[in-house]
Amino acid sequence: MQELEERIRTEGTVKPGNVLKVDAFLNHQCDVALFDQMGKAWAEHFAGKRVDKILTIEASGIGIACVAARHFGNVPIVFAKKAQSINLDGDQYVTTVYSFTKQREFPVIVSKKFLNEGEHVLLIDDFLANGKALRGLIDICDHAGATVAGIGIAVEKGFQGGGDQLRADGFDVDSLAIVESMDASTGEIVFRH
Ligand code: 5GP
Repeated sequence: MQELEERIRTEGTVKPGNVLKVDAFLNHQCDVALFDQMGKAWAEHFAGKRVDKILTIEASGIGIACVAARHFGNVPIVFAKKAQSINLDGDQYVTTVYSFTKQREFPVIVSKKFLNEGEHVLLIDDFLANGKALRGLIDICDHAGATVAGIGIAVEKGFQGGGDQLRADGFDVDSLAIVESMDASTGEIVFRH
């Protein structure tokens, strides 16, 4: 998606450790008009696929998923939680994921009442790096007996391989910008087309 690449190029910063910072429009301050364009692009890509629900993960996935839902007939959004809380009651699907940015493991939790057997679920997230977060969401869908209809990603860091592994496993992954390489010392970002 041209506009997203442009925003990454002009407002993104490359941090040491293969971290791309895009907090001016995606991870801290949010550009809703851009989110809307992203939702439209995913809706075009996944047109014709049954999507009953969108599943994402807190925190940065929530905003983009909510805006994207407007392009999928206002289907419900469920966001996986990353910590137990007294607000989480009843039976839960729980899996463990290693966080690339926080460099530690954390639980991924979805209440059983919000994910049902037979549902077709679109997964949405802000970043795809090694694929750990998505594998956690896929695992939860498997446990629920739900089908992964597809995966919509804002920014994939292609050089980390998670996206290509998911594609090789048969998942329909639509990443709106794929970073092929980036350099923290020069700030150069090269996209895959
Ligand atoms: P993965 O699980 O695919 O290795 O990493 C994806 C998750 O880590 C995303 O949910 C995202 O929150 C975070 N992440 C990974 N790489 C980056 C990055 O370069 N920048 C930002 N802002 N988040 C990232």
